[in-house]
Amino acid sequence: MGDRFAQQGKAQLAACDIAAQQGVEVIPVWNKSNREHLIVGSEPSSVRAEADAAVSALQWKLAHHVDADHINLTTVDRFIAPSDFFTLDVADAIGKPAPQADLDAFVQRHGDCGGAFGLTKDSVRAIAGKYLFAVQEARRIHRRIESERGVGTFITEVSMDETDEPQTPDQLLVILAALADEGLPVQTIAPKFTGRFNKGVDYVGDPCQFEREFNDDIAAVALAVERYGLPANLKLSVHSGSDKFSIYPAIARAMKSTGAGVHLKTAGTTWLEELIGLAEAGGDGLALAQEVYAEAYAHSAELCAPYASVIDIDAGKLPPPAVVNAWNAQDYASALRHDQSCPAFNPHLRQLLHVGYKVAAKMGQRYLDMVRECEESVARNVTENLYARHIQRVFLA
Ligand SMILES: [Zn+2]
Repeated sequence: MGDRFAQQGKAQLAACDIAAQQGVEVIPVWNKSNREHLIVGSEPSSVRAEADAAVSALQWKLAHHVDADHINLTTVDRFIAPSDFFTLDVADAIGKPAPQADLDAFVQRHGDCGGAFGLTKDSVRAIAGKYLFAVQEARRIHRRIESERGVGTFITEVSMDETDEPQTPDQLLVILAALADEGLPVQTIAPKFTGRFNKGVDYVGDPCQFEREFNDDIAAVALAVERYGLPANLKLSVHSGSDKFSIYPAIARAMKSTGAGVHLKTAGTTWLEELIGLAEAGGDGLALAQEVYAEAYAHSAELCAPYASVIDIDAGKLPPPAVVNAWNAQDYASALRHDQSCPAFNPHLRQLLHVGYKVAAKMGQRYLDMVRECEESVARNVTENLYARHIQRVFLA
């Protein structure tokens, strides 16, 4: 779970607490990417402070972690002390050539990877040719963190999701073999799945195809654990995992039938619940939520640019600010809240606001004061969203 403004740690953890009371262990991992820190103007240490405060306030007894989300060699340093979970983003290194001797040695060692998923010696060579350098880059980042923090003091995730081409299950197996060769104790891996994982809205693609692919990916992970000695709790990580309601049943079924776990990243969702909570509070809270929309509308090109590959907004379906300014609390909340059965729900408005947190960041203290003033309705929405729309559907279905 992510929290742009570090105000909702307790409300988020409350959702895990409800799951725990139902006998389901959902381990909270607070994540915030370098991109978010830059846009908000915050420091990674603030995520640690928020997480620890929430854990102590709710007397949370299970583990909790702080994720340095999507870091690389140039951005990792300020995350090293406050984080104990690192998402090594090597998507940009995909396709770069690894040293020929390393590639030859890999193929020598692994041959056709036992022929799993129809792999042959040639296809193993082709896949390794595309991904080996990226795996070596992950090892370089991992070494940097390990040399500062010490061996075994953090969880390693490798992400390859922010790229154009999805990774198929046979590719995933080869990548995992390479990660094992490099000695990376990877516990979660974020491939790019087929279909679109846009920010804050449902999956776009064929859920049946996703289900087949997801099950094959789980099989690849299990094979890699058994054959290459990767950590036994290695699991898939689903990025931009919030709001993907049409594939949650497939994920739930896969976990139930295989006993596998999953890491679900839901980072941007909480900020939208803050806006809903402000709107529902009415009065000044609603006025501020309307002001955020008007500003986001006016600066939509600038706000959307860093997220262009993960949003699909039809500008013609965005209501003009004058319309939104005339809305009452319920109008605003039902346009924004992700309830697909509600005719007033507007996914275009939702996506624009999803990337519009820079507007609130610029408001600074004025925004934070209003969120605190409306704490009751904000917290209620944050907890309800994480528990009922996410945790319950994925982990308790
Ligand atoms: Zn990601």
